[in-house]
Amino acid sequence: MLFDAFWAACEVCHRLIEDGQWARLLRRHERLNPTAMDPLVAIETAALWQQFDQRRIGQAVRIGGAVS
Ligand SMILES: [Zn+2]
Repeated sequence: MLFDAFWAACEVCHRLIEDGQWARLLRRHERLNPTAMDPLVAIETAALWQQFDQRRIGQAVRIGGAVS
């Protein structure tokens, strides 16, 4: 899977991603998305984020914020 040169997240998620706080990001995701509480969904989400973390390129963009 390839990820585009730009990716975007809200300010809170952006900070968690850039700090590598994946467990905290998953807890936030589960809190905000009740269907994510399904263990299979959580496993798939974590796997997708791991691929993103390993392969992302380009600049990060905070939704509503400046490019960092
Ligand atoms: Zn967010």
